[in-house]
Amino acid sequence: MIERSLQALQQALAAKEISSVELTQLYLERIAQHNPQLNAYITVDPASSLARARAADAQLARGDGGPLTGIPIAHKDIFCSRGWLTTCGSKMLSNFVSPYDAAVIARFETAGAVLLGKTNMDEFAMGSSNETSFYGPVKNPWNDSCVPGGSSGGSAAAVAARLAPAATGTDTGGSIRQPAALCNLTGMKPSYGVVSRYGMIAFASSLDQAGPLARSAADCALLLNAMAGFDERDSTSLDRPAEDYSRELQTGAGEKPLAGFKIGLPEEFFGDGCSPEVMQLVEAAITEYRRLGAETVAVSLPSTHLSVAAYYVIAPAEASSNLARFDGVRYGYRAPQYRDLNELYSKSRAQGFGAEVKRRILIGTYVLSHGYYDAYYLQAQRIRRLIADDFAKAFEQCDVILGPTSPSTAFKLGEKAADPVQMYLSDIYTIAVNLAGLPAISLPCGFAGGLPAGLQLIGNYFTESRLLNVAHRYQQISSWHLQRPGGFA
Ligand code: GLN
Repeated sequence: MIERSLQALQQALAAKEISSVELTQLYLERIAQHNPQLNAYITVDPASSLARARAADAQLARGDGGPLTGIPIAHKDIFCSRGWLTTCGSKMLSNFVSPYDAAVIARFETAGAVLLGKTNMDEFAMGSSNETSFYGPVKNPWNDSCVPGGSSGGSAAAVAARLAPAATGTDTGGSIRQPAALCNLTGMKPSYGVVSRYGMIAFASSLDQAGPLARSAADCALLLNAMAGFDERDSTSLDRPAEDYSRELQTGAGEKPLAGFKIGLPEEFFGDGCSPEVMQLVEAAITEYRRLGAETVAVSLPSTHLSVAAYYVIAPAEASSNLARFDGVRYGYRAPQYRDLNELYSKSRAQGFGAEVKRRILIGTYVLSHGYYDAYYLQAQRIRRLIADDFAKAFEQCDVILGPTSPSTAFKLGEKAADPVQMYLSDIYTIAVNLAGLPAISLPCGFAGGLPAGLQLIGNYFTESRLLNVAHRYQQISSWHLQRPGGFA
C-alpha cells in the first residue's frame, strides 16, 4: 500500500480493497514507529484524523468520492488548521491553536482528503536545512546524520520515509524544491498567485507560494488540482480559469514524446558552484531528455549571481514587516514577566523568536530604514526586475529551463548551521525563480554516495501542466523516483 501512487490509492479505496480509516491507521502506525527517529511531524492527532477518515468512508460509500477522497495528506505546519496546533516551527506560536482553516487546508478538506498531521519546518520557513525549528531538526531518511533540506523538511522526510502518501510545502526561495531534491521527491512551486496564501503564515509575501511534495509528477498534478484556484481573500490570488494539471500526462506517448521541444541550459547553472557528482547526474538526465526527442539550446541568465543577494534583502524586508504582528498581546507566546507594555513586547519577541528569525528581522528593518532604503531595498527591487527580464529573454529561445536544484546532495546536520552565508548559497539555483514568480519543479535524477540528487525544470508563467508533463516523461523512463530509503519498509 505505501508504494502506491495517489491514483492507485484512490482505486483501492473505490474498490473497497481498503478503507480510509484503515489507510489512515496504517500511516498513523508508521508515524508512531518512525517519527521518533526523523522528527518529521510536530503534531499528529489520531482522533481528529480518524474522524475525517470516517467521513471520507461515508462519502466513498455513497459513491461520490473525488480523486483525493479518503487519502491522508500531511501539511506543513505553516498552514492554519482549525482546532490544530499551528506553530510555524516557532516558540512564538507554540501555544497557537488556529480558529480557522487556511485556503489550502480547506480545499483539501473539500476534496475529502484526510489531514494526517502537521509537519516540522524551519522557524517561519527561514532556512534550507530544517535546523532552525523550535521543535528540533528533522533527519534525512536517506542518512539520519544529514539534513532533509528546508524549510519544508518535515513534509519531505515524511513522504520519503512513507510516513505520508503526499504532503504540502511552501516555497519562498526553494523550500519545496530543495528538500524534494535532498529527499528524492518530486516537488513543485507553482507560479505566484496560483495557490491562495490565505491562512498560510506569511514570511515574504511577494515570494511565498504553496505547492505539492510527492513521489511523482503525476501525484503532484493531483495535489495541485486540489490546491490551485482563485481566492478573493488573498489579494494576489489570480482569477484564472480552472485547469486539470494532469491533462497532458495522458497524451502523446510514443517513441519521442518530447519531439520539437526545446530545453534551455543556462550557462550560469553549469559552471562552478555545483558539486561534480550532482552535475554528472544532471548531465545524464539531459542525455535522457534528448532520447525522448527534446532538443537542447544554450541560454543565459546573466543576473543569476545577484539573486541570492537581492533575495536576502527583499525577503528579510518583507519578513520584518510580516512578523511585527507577533507582539505577545493578541495571540502566541507572551513572556511570563514584564514591567510595562514595552517590556511585554520586547521580552515576548526576544524569548519567542529564534536566532535566524531575529537575524532576518534585523536585516529587514535595516534595509528598510531611512538612509539605507535606496541603497539596499530599491537596488534589490531593480535586480529583481533584471532577473525576471533574463527569464523572459531565455523563454524566447526555449520551452523549459533545466539545471540542478541544489548544488550538493544533503549535507551533514550542523555543517552549515554556523555560517549563514554558506547556508544561503545552497539556494543559488532556486531563488531566482521566486524573485521572478515563475513555476518550477524538482525531480529525482540519481544518487551520489547513497544520497539523492534533484533536477530542476523551470517554466514560463502558468506552464505548470507542461512542467509536470516534462517531469512525468522522464519518470516513465527512469526509476530514481521509485527508490525508497532503507529502514522504512
Ligand atoms: N532558504 C531560503 C530562506 O531561508 C528559502 C526558504 C523558503 O523557501 N521558505 O529564506
